[in-house]
Amino acid sequence: MDGQLVDSYGRHIKSMRVSITDRCNFRCRYCMPAEGLPWLPRDEILTYEELARIVRIAALMGVDQIRLTGGEPLVRRDVPEFIRMLTAIPDLRSISLTTNGTRLPQLAGPLAAAGLTRINVSLDSLVPHKFFQITRRNALEAVLAGLAALEAYPSIHPIKINAVAMKNFTEDEVLDFAALARRKPYIVRWIEFMPLDADQIWRKEDILSGGEIRAIIEAEYGPLVPIAEAGASETARRYRFADGIGEVGFINPVSEPFCATCDRIRLTAEGGLRTCLFSQTETDLRTLLRGGADDHAIEAAIRGAVLQKELKHYINDKRFVRSTRSMSMIGG
Ligand code: SAM
Ligand code: SF4
Repeated sequence: MDGQLVDSYGRHIKSMRVSITDRCNFRCRYCMPAEGLPWLPRDEILTYEELARIVRIAALMGVDQIRLTGGEPLVRRDVPEFIRMLTAIPDLRSISLTTNGTRLPQLAGPLAAAGLTRINVSLDSLVPHKFFQITRRNALEAVLAGLAALEAYPSIHPIKINAVAMKNFTEDEVLDFAALARRKPYIVRWIEFMPLDADQIWRKEDILSGGEIRAIIEAEYGPLVPIAEAGASETARRYRFADGIGEVGFINPVSEPFCATCDRIRLTAEGGLRTCLFSQTETDLRTLLRGGADDHAIEAAIRGAVLQKELKHYINDKRFVRSTRSMSMIGG
């Protein structure tokens, strides 16, 4: 297996988001419906061995960053065991996890021991009733306890907090989150609300852009200082405060799309390979895996899918077609 994984526009694929479950213990409004959305039957979900095999094949083609996601990845059993399996794959530069944080009080230690090095914790509000309004769960304390638990494991670094930015919801707390980024070893990032909610409530008017949030912070703290991007495919615009304390970031897929430098593919929990968050099609790797395909056949399927990778999303355009899958089913 040789040769990098490159799409038809010359973009090198370096990063894979791996969804390990479609299940979740939250019901965030921008992601899932209040009720319904039946879980996939267990035998339709890839086993850890199957997932690790795909990651190993992708790593041989130059994919070197893996992010575990879901649904809520930490509701699946034995995630630390799976991370151990991944750390044994040569040439992976980073293994990270996106979580709602509720299971971190128990799992921060085992995850660190297994070799997890980076984490994103999703948190949209620091006010209990607003937190409930978004997640439909009373779990703010658990998430804050999860963040506190992480601080005992410096090998997991950085600790990033991701908040979905929504008009008439996020503004009030921008400065509280900014203060948190200054008080604690957390990098706070706001991500623009995208049309990936199961209820299809998204409207363009609901977006609070990164630029608007930055203006709120700068009115209080003065101009933020840009931090050089780590690489062309960096999704966040990063800033530090002028006095050097704290870092914030803005992920602006709607107001400033970063498709031109996108280096990502996604694997759904049931083994569908997606080349864009907004893909209308998936490549079914599970049937291949379970049908006895050898590694070369799986490699060929991945390369074939990547050659069809979309040029860009069309959220800002009449051509945009909503995905029939919610973020929890895709793996955000
Ligand atoms: N359950 C985990 C969590 O919430 O972190 C991982 C999966 S979740 C789908 C991944 C990320 O997608 C979270 O940070 C969540 O806030 C974000 N997300 C979900 N729906 C979104 C939407 N419609 N627009 C923007 N971000 C969204
Ligand atoms: Fe669950 Fe994450 Fe979706 Fe919220 S955003 S419902 S925590 S998968």
